[in-house]
Amino acid sequence: MDLLIKNSNLVYTSEGFKSVNIVVEDGKIRKLTAQKPNEAFDRIIDASKKIVVPGIIDLHVHFYEGRETWFSGTSAAAGGGITTVFEQPFSDPPTIYPEALDLKIRRAKKEALIDFGLHGGATPINLEYIKQLALKGVKTFKIFLPEISPDFPGPSDDNEFLDLLHIVKKTNGLALIHAENRTAVEVGLEKAITAKKIAPKDFPKSRPPMAEIEAVSRSILLAALADCPIYFVHLSTGTAGQIISTIKKTQPVYAETCPQYLIYDESVFEEKGPYARVIPPMRPKAEVAKLWDCLRLGIIDTIATDHCAYPKFEKERGRYNIFLANNGIPGLETSLPLMLTQVHHNRLELEHLIKLMTENPAKIMGLYPRKGCIQVGSDADLTIIDFNKKSRITIDNLHTKSEFTLYEGLTVHGVPEITISRGTVVMENGYPGEILTKNRGHGNFLNISEILKDL
Ligand SMILES: [Zn+2]
Repeated sequence: MDLLIKNSNLVYTSEGFKSVNIVVEDGKIRKLTAQKPNEAFDRIIDASKKIVVPGIIDLHVHFYEGRETWFSGTSAAAGGGITTVFEQPFSDPPTIYPEALDLKIRRAKKEALIDFGLHGGATPINLEYIKQLALKGVKTFKIFLPEISPDFPGPSDDNEFLDLLHIVKKTNGLALIHAENRTAVEVGLEKAITAKKIAPKDFPKSRPPMAEIEAVSRSILLAALADCPIYFVHLSTGTAGQIISTIKKTQPVYAETCPQYLIYDESVFEEKGPYARVIPPMRPKAEVAKLWDCLRLGIIDTIATDHCAYPKFEKERGRYNIFLANNGIPGLETSLPLMLTQVHHNRLELEHLIKLMTENPAKIMGLYPRKGCIQVGSDADLTIIDFNKKSRITIDNLHTKSEFTLYEGLTVHGVPEITISRGTVVMENGYPGEILTKNRGHGNFLNISEILKDL
């Protein structure tokens, strides 16, 4: 047998927390047993006083070549207890054509430490390729409502948006929506420039909560017309969450948020300047409080990172004109520790957090119970957590190529100690741990169409 994880009395199984030993062979969980197994093992991990959870799944990462490679990015993921990442389709070349998908799979296969999937894009310029992307294993298609780049255009009106939703529906896919009203964002930028309100602290006003609230409402309406399931990425306002809650029982609508929208409010732009620039921006305190309510009430399904790595200069150039800074912050290595800290602060139940970061994303992607679950037959993707350990976050210790973290100096309470991908230890001695670099290329592409056939 390959691996035994023993002595944990807090293993989060598909039947809740249990005191069991986990026997792993050929990358799968073979046995869960209260008795001490008497077989011989290549490696035995003593997890006493530790919590063992299904490997964390992050449905929202960006690995831009040159800024973060598949190796550095998946190392950062492993460092943060993450065993599966799904990459967004903007990085070069955008994942809107089958050739781009093939290229990315080849590149990632050589480098990735952990399993990975790729989101495709649904745009007015790749309508005829969406079906091919689906046949090659893509289930999720990003639709960007505000304009981001000519290589990845958003729908220019509701009819075009509806066309995209119809095509995604035809592939049995899921549309991922970046929900901000395009006109509001464009006019917000123009007005800020004209009024010379271009300091970092002015940024949130240029993309107000209502831009998200309107786009969420409209997306729900059009998705109902197209009968297409939708998933809102990085939801930032509680008000939009409340709108989602009104239809969630009758329409397949999912929502993700990220630690930055829960931990910070819009005042972060005064404190952290251009480094805080993310879209949508962090919100007024009242919206953050409502977002927490939505999280606790189960209106929000997943917590992802929206991880982006940057050298400092790409942020610093926004110091005197925030509109010149790039969007995004790194998050792979900080999200689990930050959220465990919130559990210590009694803002969220541990069991609920595990669902938000493992079970729910696995179910939404069609990966459950292969992933997101500790039961016999599941992939042995496991995160061993030291819930009582404290650590101070500093970029010097993280594995990302990013030159900064927004959480510099923050003390976290609860950290991943060991990360296991299909039975292979990829990070140990956390936090932040040592990456077992010999496992470069261990990660597999998660071809969702194949996986759904097998289930
Ligand atoms: Zn993103």
